[in-house]
Amino acid sequence: MSTPSFRLYNTLTGQPDVVEPAEPRHLRFYACGPTVYSYAHIGNFRSFITADLIARTAQAIGWDTTFVSNITDVGHLTEDDVADATGEDKMAKALRKEGQRFANVWDLARYFSDALIDDWHALNLVEPDVRPRATEHMQQQILAVQALQEKGFAYETKKGVYFSVEKFPEYGKLSGNTAEEALVEGAAAQSRDTVQDPEKRHPRDFALWKKDEKHLMQWHSPWGWGFPGWHIECSVMAMEYIGEQIDLHAGGEDLIFPHHECEIAQAESITGKPFAKLWVHTRFLQVEGEKMSKSKDNFLTVRDLIAPEAVGGRGIPPLALRMTLLSGQYRKPFNFTFDKLRDSARHIQRIETVDQLVQQALAEDAPGDDFVGERLGELYDRALGAMLDDLNTPEALAATIEGVKMLQGIGSNLSGAAATSASEWLDKINQLLGIIRPQTEDADASKDETDPLAEKVEGLLEKRAQARKNKDFERADAIRDELDEMGIEVMDSPEGTTWRRKVSV
Ligand code: AMP
Ligand code: ZN
Repeated sequence: MSTPSFRLYNTLTGQPDVVEPAEPRHLRFYACGPTVYSYAHIGNFRSFITADLIARTAQAIGWDTTFVSNITDVGHLTEDDVADATGEDKMAKALRKEGQRFANVWDLARYFSDALIDDWHALNLVEPDVRPRATEHMQQQILAVQALQEKGFAYETKKGVYFSVEKFPEYGKLSGNTAEEALVEGAAAQSRDTVQDPEKRHPRDFALWKKDEKHLMQWHSPWGWGFPGWHIECSVMAMEYIGEQIDLHAGGEDLIFPHHECEIAQAESITGKPFAKLWVHTRFLQVEGEKMSKSKDNFLTVRDLIAPEAVGGRGIPPLALRMTLLSGQYRKPFNFTFDKLRDSARHIQRIETVDQLVQQALAEDAPGDDFVGERLGELYDRALGAMLDDLNTPEALAATIEGVKMLQGIGSNLSGAAATSASEWLDKINQLLGIIRPQTEDADASKDETDPLAEKVEGLLEKRAQARKNKDFERADAIRDELDEMGIEVMDSPEGTTWRRKVSV
């Protein structure tokens, strides 16, 4: 069977486009990463997982990938829905709130970016080839702003340096928000504008550099002390690590305007060439039918969900959370519910059981034909075909679950040959969707050495093993009951004893 082409919906053209890397079979792409002023929430991760799935799908058809995803640690202001974001610096605001915990804003940024990377690994996301930080690319940003000034696209005022949208007639080609419309919008834009900079020439002009000698994070520049505008970092870092033209750019739907519109204006004004060919945007996630919001009780960080109960989390297996986020296609509205999470947790448990069965059958290597390989091959093709069709994750999951149920039905009657096929199928599905096994041992929270619950469980299991050795079965059973009450399921097999958390969503 020939592989169908890889299609993704392109916000720029308004239709599903075939993904055609400039260098055939090597996809080079950039995804906007988080602003690291707090723990990432599940909505952020819905967007990050889209980038992860783009990489996985490209790799599944044998392409190379260069995946760049940044960390925003300066320049993102609270009112980022206007072209020239206003309000308070998100990092500085967080430091004010978390003052006691961090010595300074740099420590705060480092702490939350480390936490982000931990969550990233726990949810089995492909590691980007480069994870550049805005604060580590100041020189490049200053040079880019200078280049825009020299080419006549930017002007300086007492408060900063602005990009002049009227100099870039294509402004609005991604979002439909053109410079002319902004002038007509008048009042609203004006009233916001007056709090900004009276020297600004057009309401949609956006800051490339903000002069601010009092800002907590500041750098010296040709325009004095200050910090870069939020949009410039992504144009600069994408060009630095991928080149002047990139195959694909991804982010959440809120970034279409102004962030990505401004990125296009900056990059294309500097190079005179089209910046990204494909723009992929993830629809926002809601929780139990409502917008996620810190003021409501529905703001869910990845941490809250996957941390062990012993340390105040909900103890959700990370792969169950990942599966829930995959259960809706990235471009459709997605309502995250605890019912869906419970369903996913059951599926993940079933997958784990089947994986163990298959590994056992492989070891036993019973004689017989491979009576599952053909059907599993068809199911893999179905899953891959779905992913190539604009990342249709619900369909890819349906094919996976069908295969898993089939293997569960066969149970321990797998021949060695069938087990080999089944094991290869699980590996391939895992590479495509990342839901079968954690990437690294570290990502498996239940076995984390620093997890106090895990330490307690391991200790009790040792005592139980000793009791069994001494034929003190009463004591061994009592320990098992104790573990059961702690929400721990113990599984004995000829290879030894393993355990897992029972799902308690
Ligand atoms: P931020 O940390 O605010 O810069 O956001 C990081 C990424 O998460 C961006 O691509 C946002 O568009 C995306 N994002 C934020 N909230 C949601 C949400 N509720 N659903 C999906 N993506 C989101
Ligand atoms: Zn960005």
